[in-house]
Amino acid sequence: MRIITGGMNHESNTLNPIITGEDDFVIFRGERMLSEGMLPYYSSTGVIRTLRETGCEVVPTVLARAVPNGVVSARLYAALKAELLERVEAALAAGPVDGACFGLHGSMKVEGLGCAEGDLLAAVRKLLPGVPVTVALDMHATVTDELLAHADGLVGYKTAPHVDCAETGAHAARMLLTALRTGKRLVTARRSIPMLVAGEKSESAAEPMRSLLERCREAEKAPGVMAASLLLGFPWADDEHGAVTALVTTLGDGKAAKEAAQDIADGLAEAFWARRRDFVFRSEYYDSAEAMRVAYKAVLEEGQAPVFVSDSGDNPTAGSTGDSTDVLERVLETMGTVDSLPTPLLYSGFYDAAATAACLAAGAGASIDVTVGGTWDRVNGKRITLGVEILRTIRGYGPYASDVALVRHRNVALVLTSKHIGFGDEELLPALGVRAEDHCLVVVKLGYLEACFRDVAARAIMATSKGCSNEVLESIPYRKIRRPIYPLDPSMSFMGA
Ligand SMILES: [Zn+2]
Repeated sequence: MRIITGGMNHESNTLNPIITGEDDFVIFRGERMLSEGMLPYYSSTGVIRTLRETGCEVVPTVLARAVPNGVVSARLYAALKAELLERVEAALAAGPVDGACFGLHGSMKVEGLGCAEGDLLAAVRKLLPGVPVTVALDMHATVTDELLAHADGLVGYKTAPHVDCAETGAHAARMLLTALRTGKRLVTARRSIPMLVAGEKSESAAEPMRSLLERCREAEKAPGVMAASLLLGFPWADDEHGAVTALVTTLGDGKAAKEAAQDIADGLAEAFWARRRDFVFRSEYYDSAEAMRVAYKAVLEEGQAPVFVSDSGDNPTAGSTGDSTDVLERVLETMGTVDSLPTPLLYSGFYDAAATAACLAAGAGASIDVTVGGTWDRVNGKRITLGVEILRTIRGYGPYASDVALVRHRNVALVLTSKHIGFGDEELLPALGVRAEDHCLVVVKLGYLEACFRDVAARAIMATSKGCSNEVLESIPYRKIRRPIYPLDPSMSFMGA
């Protein structure tokens, strides 16, 4: 069997003014997808591996991925879409195609277009009418009518933080192969749940997500049920599609399969809604000033180290700008205390291309003034000038080829990057010769701690700081989200409850 595959993965934060462009993406084209694009945290890796293991001919198209950020450039999306479609056409010219299986985020937005995945699949469907199409989605996917209309089977990640990406890709590939082998159709039903859920309230290891996802896994054991997913949507995109979705794919022809899928989706939606008040922050949390006060006390009076403070309102991996200065301002206001800490306070970090370039130009050992913050987030970010000593610089770090600098301002060690990359990256600090555990206090622009930090943290404190990934959804001035929606409208009812 010949199966088309490809992927686009971007979570677009519409509160962030950055337009995500070509420099922000890692793009694998054609055969390169099969050689260099097989990373363990890509859903397409599971798709490709499963198809190959079953003897299918895999036809690669385009795989494009970027760190969550502002909406994607219209020009770039048009070019990626055109290239993907050209490759589908070339595959068709070479012989029959039996199906298609894609790895997509589900919350990618394009300037002037809005939700991208439905648009992409509609175009693919035009070229491949009558062949089954399955999709592996992120757990934070937004499900639009168009996306649903042009995919036969869909399945989302069941872990957050996401550690089952390749597994979900394999699941999507298996659904496709089952449909092809049996000659039966895949049908998908959904139930939208009018809720916005902050990422830090919905880790899959904690309640209520743990039980709700278990319910999905149980549902998948029933005969004919191919996938049951709870897709949380993306609360930092202000558009009319924002919601949680229960999505169920079954195998079979006719009304019975559709009704079975709808029954299960309704049951999942009802169960999700019943637990709505149980979505709460798991770690201790405070506003920025209080978070720093509690952290200083933990280090200086309670002897805890390292204490982590998540600057959660400006988390680049949730698409924030990475240059809000809310927490940095609180640090600079309390420099007397910071200077008394037994080790430098490590702050990882700031996305500031100009400041990073100035550090690379001056080189390690030099002392210069750099200005950080407020380039993109002009609401929560101020331009702050700091006298710093440059400790270390790296050119072209990681898959996004970011320049990185480690600088010191009094008793603060600060990481600066030239590209919008995530600060939960476990290799970033070691590349700078830094170990988080050698610092008594670590501030990181991140939400829940990634395993590399969680494993060493003596204490994890979340600052509900100001930025484009503000975790206090009730305080975001949404304009387009469809109302009523929970928790913005806490007394609303849904499905009779
Ligand atoms: Zn996600």
